[in-house]
Amino acid sequence: MLIFVVILSQFLLELAAVNVTPETKISSTSNFIWSYDDESKWPGKLCQSGGKRQSPIDIRTDDVVRDFRKEFIKYGPLKFTGYKKVLTTGINNGHTIQFSTEGEDLMHPLISGGPLKYRYRLEQLHFHWLSEHAVNGVKYPMEIHFVHVRADLTVNQALHRKDGLAIVSVFGNVQSELDDSDLHMGEVMTHVPKLMRPGNRLSGVLLDMSKLLNVDKSSYYTYAGSLTSPDCNEAVIWIIFTTPIVLTDAQYRMFANIGIVRHNFRSLQKVNQQVVYMPVEVKVKVPHIVQFFVDVGRAVTDFFKNFGTFVSNGIHVR
Ligand SMILES: [Zn+2]
Repeated sequence: MLIFVVILSQFLLELAAVNVTPETKISSTSNFIWSYDDESKWPGKLCQSGGKRQSPIDIRTDDVVRDFRKEFIKYGPLKFTGYKKVLTTGINNGHTIQFSTEGEDLMHPLISGGPLKYRYRLEQLHFHWLSEHAVNGVKYPMEIHFVHVRADLTVNQALHRKDGLAIVSVFGNVQSELDDSDLHMGEVMTHVPKLMRPGNRLSGVLLDMSKLLNVDKSSYYTYAGSLTSPDCNEAVIWIIFTTPIVLTDAQYRMFANIGIVRHNFRSLQKVNQQVVYMPVEVKVKVPHIVQFFVDVGRAVTDFFKNFGTFVSNGIHVR
């Protein structure tokens, strides 16, 4: 009995210690223990009432605005500085595996450009399996979030500004046979086995994040949204790359074995004011299955167009 009590109290202590929201370093409003199994019990008014620009959303590529008029993407190409050697602490916080930047704020990697009026410093990256965002109703096996805070603000200040945070998102696809050169996740995976249980922590981890960000950086969706975990603050500029990175089956299976929960994605939110923009000269990439239907759809439409013309000509209605 005593052993049971000791184990139980140890477990509760761990839970309390790790109850931080995946999107930021800081705790949510309270020490409220929330779970992905019941979103109706999440703390924070915005998580409950929905707000106006909640995330994640299903990105409908037909509705994405090419930003010819520079309404949202006003600051040139995206610029990433200092992502090659980043000193981090790996944490299993009970909701995800996260790598938080260590040391002085000044040493953190920085992103600017694109839709970002300010410079943003990297606070942490973490993983969602499945993806939180969807493209034309299709999800990817994984989504990696690089959470950045406006360089001129503290995390707490940033959470209350409409552009306080910038989250860069990279989708992950699973592929069974990969070349070494394709091992985007290789470095991260060497640390994951030590982070399998809630409360596990690993400091002094040096990560080359440019591997995780090895995608076409000129092609992305961007919109003003929210955190996808409590308190769902509407403070995030999302930058979601259209090209996924790839993982092996074995790598993906390891995430499925992490002792957290069955899944760790928030459900898709209603689209209200979230207009999704895209840089002008970019090809839209969508998951293969959708591409197939788009192609078939186009072929069928073309066929009927021809057919229609033919019929019209045939009966001289024009
Ligand atoms: Zn996230």
